[in-house]
Amino acid sequence: VSEKGEYPTLADISESEVLSRIFPRLPTSDFALLGPGDDCAVVSAPDKRFVMTTDMMVQGPDFRLEWSTPWQLGFKAAATNLADVASMGAVPTALVVSLAAPAATQVRWLEEFADGLHAGCNDLAPGCGVVGGDLSVSSVLTVSITATGDLQGREPILRSGARDGDVIAYAGDLGQAALGLHALFTGQRLAKPELLNAQLQPQPPVNLGTVAAEAGATAGLDVSDSLAMDLGRIAKASNVSCRLDERVIDDLAAHLALEYGVDASEARQAILFGGEDHGLLMTFRSLDDVPDGFVILGDVSEGPHGVFLGQASLTERGWNPYAGWDGTVS
Ligand SMILES: [Mg+2]
Repeated sequence: VSEKGEYPTLADISESEVLSRIFPRLPTSDFALLGPGDDCAVVSAPDKRFVMTTDMMVQGPDFRLEWSTPWQLGFKAAATNLADVASMGAVPTALVVSLAAPAATQVRWLEEFADGLHAGCNDLAPGCGVVGGDLSVSSVLTVSITATGDLQGREPILRSGARDGDVIAYAGDLGQAALGLHALFTGQRLAKPELLNAQLQPQPPVNLGTVAAEAGATAGLDVSDSLAMDLGRIAKASNVSCRLDERVIDDLAAHLALEYGVDASEARQAILFGGEDHGLLMTFRSLDDVPDGFVILGDVSEGPHGVFLGQASLTERGWNPYAGWDGTVS
């Protein structure tokens, strides 16, 4: 196979040729009135408001090519943005994808990345798709995605709405992504594939965002950094005290430990202080309001803002993208 034959790199063919190979693989948005091709896309916003968020992934601090396939990176890039939209109680409508890659990157890599974006949208938020983007060349592979969502006439779920007497609930994986990352760092090839997948291609319950909103969620976000840190954000924004039930956490840790063959204390750490599961952490007015798919984790009370496990205060610890990495790009 010649260099410009079946496996051309970004340097071998023109940008328009690259795009013509990628476009057909991208997911299309049901909400796009005008898709890629013009200077802007046109996306319907029936609510007259829309939510918007962005997330960047940089090779080195955010991902490693020896761990993630391009397909997995595309999936994860979609998933993290879709989870942010869902956490506001909105339906994801469109993604704008910017990617800068080294000139030696095979076009095949970009095609597989596009396939991962497609699978992420199809699996997690059917109807959402890519409406535009940009492609550039850089020595550091960088992916930036901006996502929009439709509130369908409901008020957005904010971090600041938790009140005394609310119930804290969570939907999605909790601890798996951190255990998966630990397995990758320590070279545990025998780790269960589900654990590695939880880190490399997280599957947040995006569909439960609107379910939570319809059930009257008072506050919420997706857990990107850690349960302790992200619950701390709700506690601070709402100026309330959030207490996690120790028995529930121990129970979850025991199940996680049993399922993945790690010890219970490691599982407990992953649940409380691990990140990147991107599940939905929400508060509701009462137990009866909590929809199917959510697990009750604790309750909200008045008082100085903070996060407690039983009586013990949890310091703000969690995923720090600048910690634990040697900074070398591989
Ligand atoms: Mg978030």
